[in-house]
Amino acid sequence: MEWIKESIRTLKGYHPSSLPYRVKLDANEGKNSIFKDLCFEKDMEINLYPDSDAKKLREEIGRYIGVKASKIIAGNGSSEMIDLIMKTFVEKGETILSFVPTFSMYEIYSQIYSAQFLGVKSKKDFSLDMEEFIEKMDQVNPKVVLLCNPNNPTGYQISPGEIKRLLEKTKALVVVDEAYMEFSEGSVIDEIDTYPNLIVLRTLSKAFGLAGIRLGYMVANEEMMEVLNRVKAPYNLNALTQYVGIQVLQRKEKIQDYIKEAKKEREKLYRTLKTLEFQVYPSGGNFLFFKSDIENFHKKLVERGILIRSFSEDLEGYYRVSIGSQEENENFIRGVKEIVRDEKGAD
Ligand SMILES: *Cc1c(COP(=O)(O)O)cnc(C)c1O
Repeated sequence: MEWIKESIRTLKGYHPSSLPYRVKLDANEGKNSIFKDLCFEKDMEINLYPDSDAKKLREEIGRYIGVKASKIIAGNGSSEMIDLIMKTFVEKGETILSFVPTFSMYEIYSQIYSAQFLGVKSKKDFSLDMEEFIEKMDQVNPKVVLLCNPNNPTGYQISPGEIKRLLEKTKALVVVDEAYMEFSEGSVIDEIDTYPNLIVLRTLSKAFGLAGIRLGYMVANEEMMEVLNRVKAPYNLNALTQYVGIQVLQRKEKIQDYIKEAKKEREKLYRTLKTLEFQVYPSGGNFLFFKSDIENFHKKLVERGILIRSFSEDLEGYYRVSIGSQEENENFIRGVKEIVRDEKGAD
């Protein structure tokens, strides 16, 4: 098409699965028991534009993470936050450095903004060699360093010490995507005043089980916020999302129960998959990354109505399963056991 801008011509885009399912464990959505308890104000002034700065919501987020509201911007998922960062800071041809495999949206946004995405390869066990990463960083002088921690899809966790080591060594903008941090520990949010080039991303899509309302946020020092706020679209966050976000953050104790449960289920599933002789990787997220040599493994699960995430190319044979409810996880394991048994019978 003649009107399309150059960077978009070869863009593949992000295509979530639309297969039918009985058990959905492919997108790391948490479950939410709080939403059902909310009562909606019928006299919400929905005819008016929402609060453009989402002040009340940012104050609630601030209470949740222990940061002043002036150091927070909220938007339609952390996806909008990644977009806003690129839009504000990245010029055509500049380099975005990350490690791979990681969240595929980083590369997609890099391409949209005509930046060069470079991914340092993880080690064989999918851990990151920070020494090597820093070396690469010195070579390519990136504008932005993007670290997903814990990493999606591998579950790998970078220690805060290593992130600080990197921060000491660079003037690049360092964006740490902590979408799954509630299922782990080692956030660097407390470092935003120490390092002026640090931005932390968070979301309510995973631990809060609110992927459907699209709510994420970023945290950084006030000078950074001032610039980003000039670029952010006015009224970016609709009134219903702001309302639900505030209500849920006011009941955050309930979230803690869910996180505890999810971690317990994660350990259980980890052990079960190991017992079934899969290669499973330790995970700081609400998901597990594992390898299977069984042919058509994904297809066999789909036939049983069970959806998990599969990968291609370098990650052929690797899978990511979200931690679901106890019942969903049992369903998944039952399906896996059937497949393993059929496989053994066929030998
Ligand atoms: C799920 C996820 C997000 C969250 O995206 P939202 O737009 O907030 O739903 C961000 N980063 C990573 C790595 C994720 O896996």
